[in-house]
Amino acid sequence: MASTPDLEQRRAALEAIADEIRQCTLCPLYTGRTHAVPGYGRVDADILFVGEGPGYHEDQQGLPFVGQSGHYLDELLGKIGLTRAEVFITNVVKCRPPNNRDPLPLEIDTCTTTYLHRQIAIIQPKVIATLGRFSMGLFFPPNARITRIHGQPHRADGRIYYPLFHPAAVLRNPNLRPDMEADFKRMLDLVAAAQPEVPPPDEPEDEPPPRQLSLF
Ligand code: SF4
Repeated sequence: MASTPDLEQRRAALEAIADEIRQCTLCPLYTGRTHAVPGYGRVDADILFVGEGPGYHEDQQGLPFVGQSGHYLDELLGKIGLTRAEVFITNVVKCRPPNNRDPLPLEIDTCTTTYLHRQIAIIQPKVIATLGRFSMGLFFPPNARITRIHGQPHRADGRIYYPLFHPAAVLRNPNLRPDMEADFKRMLDLVAAAQPEVPPPDEPEDEPPPRQLSLF
């Protein structure tokens, strides 16, 4: 099917951001990278996954979630009938922290304010699924604990934020698998329940609002 002009413009805007990321020197992480990892997927994806940062394989290939965690993410997507080409996958920081250390607050602030928030504005996902505590920390209160709030969607800014474990954490602790898989299974219901940011123009104004999803 042919792309609409709007979709073409959005795709071009997203690719322009990816080009900026590949040349970025705004934080110290650029010094150790082989490749920056802007993200991968549909420009109009309903679901945006936000992980932590590239690891060794991602840094080598310039693509997100291509190591063991990525294989597990593909497996989880497959269980709900999706492929990575039907969603968008990116990270809090786009360059690999040395020795896979945690990204620092300055690195997270710089990268998300410069790139992630612009990517979100273009993609306009209905659901932002956070993978692990660093991306959860962008959208949930600082005292939130992933073990307590995983799988509990929160509606804000016209979309649903959905905290999930990081796939690597589940691979390290297989006891988390049933929870992770149950959380994934709810994802399509959340997409269906998410409200569009702007109602369709032909929607009658006096129509009662659609039933709200009970989020907690
Ligand atoms: S992590 Fe983000 S802000 Fe830092 S150099 Fe890479 S692209 Fe730039």
